[in-house]
Amino acid sequence: MSVDAKMHVLICGGGVIGASTAYFLARRDVSSTVIERAGIACAASGKSGGFLALDWCDGTALEALARRSFALHAQLAEEIGGDWAYRRMTTYAGFAARAGRRSAGGGYHLNWIDDDVSLTQRLGGQQTTAQVHPGRFTQALMHAAQPHAALRLGRVSGIVREGERVTGVDVDGETVTGDAVVIAMGPWSILAAAWLPLPAVFGLKGHSLVFDTGADVPAEALFLDYREESGAAHAPEVFPRADGTTYVCAISSESPVPLDPGAVVPDEGAIERLEAICARLSPVLARSPILARQACFRPVTRDGLPLIGRLPGLANAYVATGHSVWGILNAPATGEAMAELIIDGSARTVDLASFDPARMRPAAAPRVRNA
Ligand SMILES: Cc1cc2nc3c(=O)[nH]c(=O)nc-3n(C[C@H](O)[C@H](O)[C@H](O)COP(=O)(O)OP(=O)(O)OC[C@H]3O[C@@H](n4cnc5c(N)ncnc54)[C@H](O)[C@@H]3O)c2cc1C
Repeated sequence: MSVDAKMHVLICGGGVIGASTAYFLARRDVSSTVIERAGIACAASGKSGGFLALDWCDGTALEALARRSFALHAQLAEEIGGDWAYRRMTTYAGFAARAGRRSAGGGYHLNWIDDDVSLTQRLGGQQTTAQVHPGRFTQALMHAAQPHAALRLGRVSGIVREGERVTGVDVDGETVTGDAVVIAMGPWSILAAAWLPLPAVFGLKGHSLVFDTGADVPAEALFLDYREESGAAHAPEVFPRADGTTYVCAISSESPVPLDPGAVVPDEGAIERLEAICARLSPVLARSPILARQACFRPVTRDGLPLIGRLPGLANAYVATGHSVWGILNAPATGEAMAELIIDGSARTVDLASFDPARMRPAAAPRVRNA
């Protein structure tokens, strides 16, 4: 199929995946409406780490998607206006000893980290690891998609079909019409399983803090093992950002995903525990003001791979979700491939076969509303 100048795509969900799809459609002069319930990047796409790695998915089905995305992140930072704090990083792994037990002394010493933290491995350098501020990146993609992409604030509550074709999306009791629909609602994509043949998508909760650490903390990312006094094990990730903040996430839970993305709040006690962990990891974190105490859900599938592709039995309905811990990294190549799939009928830049939604059975029998 050649580019249809009149084609208009409805993208359900204004996270990084929806925004990236809108951006890459816009690059091909295809217009879209992004339908978002609560606000662009209001969920995981605004509250995640934004860490990027070139080769950490090597040897898995994600390898090509991640490598293409890592390159696109660098390219987009040059091509698109706006500042989303893209920068390269040096990345270390290590562990924090229990209080009172000094660690054996690690291979690397960073002067902003507590002496009880041993950094035993260098996981990546400036060529292979990087970061973005994920919320600002998502906003920049939406902005760069103008004037081709419109934002419609509202709750997607159904799909309108004519046989094998989707003709519209129900938004707050009104039907918005379009030529194709993309489900990109992160963990809320499961709602669409009531209307479309979509495999199950779940949400896994993570907690995070953002510290005002100032400009003194260098571009050094940390992946740590940490054991609380209770024996509970955690894997805090620490990302100092170019804007003078430092992001730390840890403490996952399987708390249920609320229907309203705006109603996501931290689990009781989780933030206090995370603050205690941070105070032990670094004297800089211990004395810095906290700007955000937050939680969000990452979208996951049964086999751990994203769902990226056309839905079985439908001519013009697509899904792009389930990116788990690599959604910010893999958003650019996902958006690019989605645009190719929708416009050209197949993706050229990345082979999407491993992500085909038809590989798993639908979560529920869709309830169909005909036009
Ligand atoms: C703690 C944590 C740290 C992370 N760190 C990293 C990292 O360092 N690097 C990395 O690559 N990835 C990271 N991730 C993963 C990444 O954040 C996610 O994979 C990614 O943000 C998912 O984007 P999305 O667009 O699919 O979903 P979301 O960001 O969840 O967006 C879905 C959107 O759909 C909207 N929506 C929901 N219901 C409706 C409805 N009915 N109608 C309309 N809109 C609706 C929501 O409001 C939301 O804006 C992390 C995740 C977590 C939880």
